[in-house]
Order: sequence, then C-alpha cells, then structure tokens
Amino acid sequence: MKPFLLFVITLCAAGSLIAQDSMSEGPFPQLIIRGVTLINGNGAPPTGPVDIVVENNIIKRISTVGYPGVAIDEARRPKLMPGGKELNCEGMYLLPGFIDMHGHIGGRAQGADSDYVFKLWMAHGITTVREPSGRGVDVTLDLKKKSAKNEIIAPRIFAYTGFGQGSKEPISTPEMARSWVRNNAQKGADGIKLFGAAPEIMTAALDENKKLGLRSACHHAQMDVARWNVLQSARAGLTSMEHWYGLPEALFEDRTVQNYPLDYNYNNEQHRFEEAGKLWQQAAAPYSDHWNKVMDELIALDFTMDPTFNIYEASRDLQRARRAEWHEDYTLPSLWKFYQPSKISHGSYWHYWGTEQEVAWKKNYTLWMTFINEYKNRGGRVTTGSDSGFIFQLYGFAYIRELELLREAGFHPLEIIRSATLNGAEALGMSHKIGTVAVGKLADFVVVAENPLKNLKVLYGTGAIKLTEENEVVRVGGVTYTIKDGIIYDAKELLQDVKRLVAEKKLQENYKILQPGIKE
Ligand SMILES: [Zn+2]
Repeated sequence: MKPFLLFVITLCAAGSLIAQDSMSEGPFPQLIIRGVTLINGNGAPPTGPVDIVVENNIIKRISTVGYPGVAIDEARRPKLMPGGKELNCEGMYLLPGFIDMHGHIGGRAQGADSDYVFKLWMAHGITTVREPSGRGVDVTLDLKKKSAKNEIIAPRIFAYTGFGQGSKEPISTPEMARSWVRNNAQKGADGIKLFGAAPEIMTAALDENKKLGLRSACHHAQMDVARWNVLQSARAGLTSMEHWYGLPEALFEDRTVQNYPLDYNYNNEQHRFEEAGKLWQQAAAPYSDHWNKVMDELIALDFTMDPTFNIYEASRDLQRARRAEWHEDYTLPSLWKFYQPSKISHGSYWHYWGTEQEVAWKKNYTLWMTFINEYKNRGGRVTTGSDSGFIFQLYGFAYIRELELLREAGFHPLEIIRSATLNGAEALGMSHKIGTVAVGKLADFVVVAENPLKNLKVLYGTGAIKLTEENEVVRVGGVTYTIKDGIIYDAKELLQDVKRLVAEKKLQENYKILQPGIKE
C-alpha cells in the first residue's frame, strides 16, 4: 500500500503546482478592467460601460467610457502603461468582492482541507471571510498571514476566536473572562465568537473586548439563552449576532423559556432542531409593540444581524438540500458522510424528519424573514454569512443560496449585494478598505458574464439553466473572475481543481455518493 500512496501524493503535489499557475495572474503595476457594467455595493444602480484602473492592489480610477449600445470612443479610455495588463470584460458585470461573515474554514469532522474550502469560496467571488471559530486561533492566524501575503489561494481572513478556546480551565469568573479576552487580542485575533455564558461572564468578556477595540459575534445557544438573550448582548457591547437564536427569546411576551417538551434533551439533535422550528411562533407577533421596541433598540445600538438563512434550509426542505446538483462533483466523501443522520455529528438531526417538521420550519422562516427584512428597512445592518460545512450546505454554493434567501425575505437585489459587500465591510470595521468599488480601496472584485441582479443563480459555480433561441438547453454564468488584492483568479479553473480533488478522493476510497438509507 505504501508505494501506491506515495505515488498519489507526488501526483497531487505536481498537479496542484501546475494548476496553481494557470489559476491566477498578477498583481500588476497597472491593471485595466475594460468595459464592465459596475454594480457597486453602496446601493447604486448598475452603470456602464466603465473602465477600472488598478495599480498593484489599489483602485486608482473608475472611468465611465460610454453609453449602453453605443460604440466606445477609444480615445477617451484610460491608457495602458508599459508592463500593464488589460482585462477585456466588455458586456460583463463587476461587483465588489463578496464577504462571507460566517465561514468556518473546515474542521476535522468534515475532513475538509483549507485549500478545498478556500477554492470553493474564491470560485464564488468570496474575497473576505470572517471565521467565527475553527481549528484554533493559531491555525487561523497562520492562514490569515499566508492569505494576506497571497502565498495561498484564499480570501482575506478575519479571525474571531471561539470564546474560551485554548484556556486550560473552563472560564468560570469575570476575571478569567477578561484575561482570556486580553490574551486573545494579544495573539492578534480580530474578535471573539461567543456561544453564550452566564450573565457576569458575558458582561465581562464583552466589556473587555470592546475596550480593546475588537468586535464580537454570538450564537446564543439554548443552554444560556434563558438568562441572556440578544438584547442583553447588544446592550453589553456585542457587535453582531449569528443565525437567529436568542432573538425570539428577546421577543417573548407570555413566557420566559422556550416551550420545551418535558422529555427534551439538548444533546439529542432531533429535539434541538425540531423544537427550534417552533420557536418564532412563541415570540411577539410581527409589528406588535414589543416586536417594534426590540427591533428599534437593536438598531439604535448599531447591532449587526448575520442571519445565515441557508444553513437551516434543510429543515424546511431536506430533499432540496441533499439533492443539490453540486454534491456529486464538489462534495468530498468525508463531508458527505458527516452530513448523514447521526446521533453524534452536529447538525445531522434527521433521525426522523418528516412533513410535520418541514411545515413548522416553513412558518418559522416566514416570521424570521419578516423580522430581518423590516430590520433592513428601518436602517439596521444585515450581513451575508453562510456557515457552510454542515447540514448539506457546501462552501461557496451555500453563500449564493444565502443571497437567494435574502431575496425571498424581501430584499431588492441591490440591497442583497450591499449586504454581501459594504455591510460586511462595515461590520468588520473595514469599510475604508473593502466593500465598495471606490478609488483608494483594495482591488477585490467579482466579474460575471450575466446580470446577477436579474437572476442570482448565475453566481452558482454550476451556473443557471437557460433555453436558447435555437431551443438548446445551456448553462450560463458562474463567476468568470474573482479578483483579490489585484490578483486575477480564473474562477472556473478553481472549480475544476476542486472537481479533480474530489474525483481523486472518491477513487482512493472507491466511494459513491448515495442518498441516506439507500444501499447499493
Ligand atoms: Zn457557525
């Protein structure tokens, strides 16, 4: 067995080296992206044709060079300098690089290497990721440094360490919380990710973190939410909430704890997710006084919502999530195994998931989406996060699904793009560098051949289905180029590379993706 293994490794290493060269180009002393229609992240409507001039990785000029349907006057265009690079993108659409506010780089359970995850993200236009805890702050900070130097193909990374991660003892006093937070900042992390704790611990951690100027995210898990919900977090200085837990609890009027069945056990994943699907119905009704009051206070506190709608979508439509067409080519065997119903794997709660559970979750979504859309309408910040690697949601693809779900919640496509770009940059404290296409900012872009406002599906790596005038079925779209720090990545090549890797893994393991419970 050994010689065979060695042979495979050598092949992979050589293959990825060659491939890496054909996948990226740049940065250039001057890069001119010609003839695009610009969809900016600031809520502005599309405009074009535009030429965008970049020097190394800084945007230097954004020039309107004509009118739709009229030949461009070449004399009016920015001039290429010697050594410069022209990228002809006539007829294409250019957007700021996408920001995934909830991107776990991949854990041991998923068996996903960072390289696999990064390529899937980059292939879907994601140039910035906030990691809300992962394999540990040292691993994340090492990847962050390599990405910043562009030594690896990866989005820029913001590291939010899991609260208490690396501590020798469980954090049980406010003093321990403060000292952990200081230590985390010293290490160079960008923030913390909390899962809830006793009120005095939350207060101390958030206060210390705020004093240090760092940001924070919290998944308000059920074990602590009865004493500390989203509103208490926001008042104490939390800057963003993840998912939705803790929000219905802040909206309770006729109860103080969720209506748990008396045989509920939090460690039973079906209990956990099935009961969560009934939670929004236990909260104050949309547009009621209490609902309004909570929303307005959160907005006044400049609090960010990162709903990650997509990661729960299997709860309302399991078949859609597990039959997604990208699984066959892009999902690793280890990831597929991790998704299967299990009493152990997190999020694999399909012990017996049927009509009742899906219908409850559909209602849950309606109430949740109503809150998020109105939050946006009243001036609240909503960002785009995916939380992929669980519950049949695949890196990159799931981010595009999140955009579609924001559309379902009631966002205008331009509001969605702003959520995916400028809002994320603001929530990270990075809007002076990224989030819109503006002179002086970093050259992070998504370029796609089709208009994504008309159909967000063109952003999926597998493209959108279209019937031509000649009655031929084709795929259109898929991101053409992802540009990060002025480096041009061929998004389709990145996907090809992932496809090759997945095929190799399947060959090694003689593995075939089968639906749950089906035996060949
Ligand atoms: Zn997460």
